[in-house]
Amino acid sequence: MLIAGNWKMNLKYEDIIKLKNIISDLEVDRRVEIAIFPQFPLLYSAIEKLSDYKIEVGAQACSSVLKGAFTGDVSVEIISDIGCKYCIVGHSERREYHHETNQFVKNASNLLLSKNIIPIVCVGESLEVKNKRETNQFIKSQIRECIPENITSNIVVAYEPIWAIGTGKIPEYEEISSVHKIIMNELSHIKNLKVIYGGSVNKENCSKIFELNEVHGALIGGASLKFKDFLAIYESAVKQII
Ligand code: PEP
Repeated sequence: MLIAGNWKMNLKYEDIIKLKNIISDLEVDRRVEIAIFPQFPLLYSAIEKLSDYKIEVGAQACSSVLKGAFTGDVSVEIISDIGCKYCIVGHSERREYHHETNQFVKNASNLLLSKNIIPIVCVGESLEVKNKRETNQFIKSQIRECIPENITSNIVVAYEPIWAIGTGKIPEYEEISSVHKIIMNELSHIKNLKVIYGGSVNKENCSKIFELNEVHGALIGGASLKFKDFLAIYESAVKQII
């Protein structure tokens, strides 16, 4: 399982130190991986301070090209050089505010894999698509358009219904299972595929989500900013695999 905390544009250097102090007392069970995704300028410090505690660090986004005149963008080369294991690609906020398309996600995923970084590819339907009962078809198309055809291992897909992000609402548990099954079917050729769920995961609802066989972890926004809650979610994942 993978418990991934997307800090978005929140938290600071001092919070990395706070997290380090909290987790230094924690027995990390290697079967459940913890990863955090701070803002770019904090990545190096996070890796330096947290690697002894078995916390992985990843980037929240990356460019879809390797280098050049792209002011403000960040290359996968740098993300790889500093030692990130993961990079989130195609988060709905990047799609909305930075116009990242499915083709962008595919190109960026290819580049990430070429630098040995595991892409966490986000897919998920809007409320409009859900209300039209077109979720399954929408997710199938997103998967086909976002995941490079040549990939055979090392990718994580995060199913994040847009309407569930930051709203406190989550799909019915059967709906989560059924969308995860669709993703797993589409990508049955990929070894070690993880399909994680994201969207208003908190310490109250996480155990029911982790009970679902098709859920291999969670991508957590708001609740990852409160370290006690984040670690409670991690502990719930550990209980699930024992
Ligand atoms: C996210 O933005 O990836 C996310 C899942 O946010 P939240 O947990 O706050 O809904």
